[in-house]
Amino acid sequence: MIHKRIKVLDKKVLIIGSGLGALSTALRLTTLGYDDITIVEKYHSPGGRLNVLRDQGFTFDMGPSFFSMSYEFDELFKTCGMENPLKFKKLDPLYSVNFAGSDRVFRIYTDLDKLEKEFEGIEPNFKAKAEKYLENAGKIFHDTEYKVVKSNFSSTPAYLMSLAQVPWKHAPRMFYSMWTDLEKTFESNEAKVIFSLVAFFLGATPFDTPAVYKLLSYTELVHDGYWNVEGGMYKITEAMVSELSKRGVKFEYGVEIKDYFSDGHRVTGFSDQHGNIHQADLIVVNADAASFRGEIFKRKAFTEEKLDKMDWTLAPFTIYLGVKGKIAGLNHHNYFLGDNFRDYSDKIFKLAVNPEKPYYYVNVSSKSNPNCAPEGCENIFILCPVPDMRFKADWSDSEQLADDIIADLSQRVGYDIAGNIITKTVLPPTEWEGRLNLYKGSGLGLAHGLNQVGAFRPKNKDEEFDNVYYVGASTTPGTGLPMVVISSRLVVERILEQEKKSKREHLPV
Ligand SMILES: Cc1cc2nc3c(=O)[nH]c(=O)nc-3n(C[C@H](O)[C@H](O)[C@H](O)COP(=O)(O)OP(=O)(O)OC[C@H]3O[C@@H](n4cnc5c(N)ncnc54)[C@H](O)[C@@H]3O)c2cc1C
Repeated sequence: MIHKRIKVLDKKVLIIGSGLGALSTALRLTTLGYDDITIVEKYHSPGGRLNVLRDQGFTFDMGPSFFSMSYEFDELFKTCGMENPLKFKKLDPLYSVNFAGSDRVFRIYTDLDKLEKEFEGIEPNFKAKAEKYLENAGKIFHDTEYKVVKSNFSSTPAYLMSLAQVPWKHAPRMFYSMWTDLEKTFESNEAKVIFSLVAFFLGATPFDTPAVYKLLSYTELVHDGYWNVEGGMYKITEAMVSELSKRGVKFEYGVEIKDYFSDGHRVTGFSDQHGNIHQADLIVVNADAASFRGEIFKRKAFTEEKLDKMDWTLAPFTIYLGVKGKIAGLNHHNYFLGDNFRDYSDKIFKLAVNPEKPYYYVNVSSKSNPNCAPEGCENIFILCPVPDMRFKADWSDSEQLADDIIADLSQRVGYDIAGNIITKTVLPPTEWEGRLNLYKGSGLGLAHGLNQVGAFRPKNKDEEFDNVYYVGASTTPGTGLPMVVISSRLVVERILEQEKKSKREHLPV
């Protein structure tokens, strides 16, 4: 549905943060006729986690490297009356997986006949088992997509009513883990581990992720697969900022909101780190919806003590390497895993020490986008999930962990990476917090246990202030690029609801 322009009465809109949630919301609001929008951003460039690092001819996507549910972007652009300015490239294979101590590399194809060959000799009847698993995952996806994920809820009972309409046969999978479900499906450790990697996209382990999230396996292997953007992921941010600038949206960088003013019912303005005042009639907060309520609005339900008790997604430890030479042992998307998955997942994310044998993801976008690295070179992005700063506050040993990971990768791909480094940047959780205000360095925001989704996730409309809304990973529906685009749709629906309500209240009697 194309947004219809509405009559907007000189509303001044302030959006705090310039992540994908903010950019998508701004696009929708300009389409509706809001023509006085300012986006203020703490960092020096737009995009939030969807950002970029550039060094000596190398370009690195700082965070996201692929996405599912590409049609959510299509919906956004179509609704906003524009052609999709991006060229999406479907990944095939989706990624490859390497286990420590084995030369066998698993290429993850969406074609189950091809995928079956990857498991030859280790998982009997792989195709039949995978089909059954994915069929069930698909049912969960379609039974919850609109009833749970893509809806605003007016209250907790309304949410519970909507949940009650989801077929009851899915209910048991809310109470046992994804890993338990996989143990019932596959025999080999390799198949179980590979199918469980989707839990990490939720920023959690398969042992603490409810089995209903197997629906993510359906999204990756059946429904819409994974996508990349020609030229790199930062093209998404660039294209949206360019369109918003044409539509008159103003951007201010290096501005961190620190405090607010209110008349009791509405926020009238904010002050930044320099004491400058930012006034607005309508405010959309793209900063973390939980920690902003605590740190800026000083809400009792979101004090540091309470925030610390919530479940947060794993923190990223990221390394960006510009490397001389082409490395045959690496593909565009790769996982390098150890041989103690359960023990690693159970222990490492709650300890204050670095993992001895880290598990990590490696993205080499120069494999598909040659412009991202000088000729004859590779741009290597390594993401190792680690404990957040609640568990490990001191990251002064980051260089050591980075060197250990680089040494492990060099040995596993048979290439002296350390000896060929041209550029190197390391971002431990403290940097992710310092640059983008990610709470205690948690990479994907609030986790997605059943007590923190739907009506139990921080709401997209403020509890106290009539004119304050939230968009992004820690409000509804959740984290990841397509979810954040959906979040922008949900928050704009909320804003329109409130606009209609206020108009009704102000009609002459
Ligand atoms: C390392 C990493 C890898 C990821 N990989 C993927 C992936 O492959 N695929 C995928 O779909 N998702 C991935 N994600 C998740 C995805 O990046 C996020 O879910 C999404 O980008 C969140 O967007 P957002 O708009 O909610 O928030 P953000 O992108 O965090 O934007 C919020 C913005 O608000 C600003 N801000 C915060 N506080 C203030 C303040 N007080 N004043 C002013 N500005 C403020 C921040 O600086 C930030 O720019 C990844 C995340 C990380 C960290």
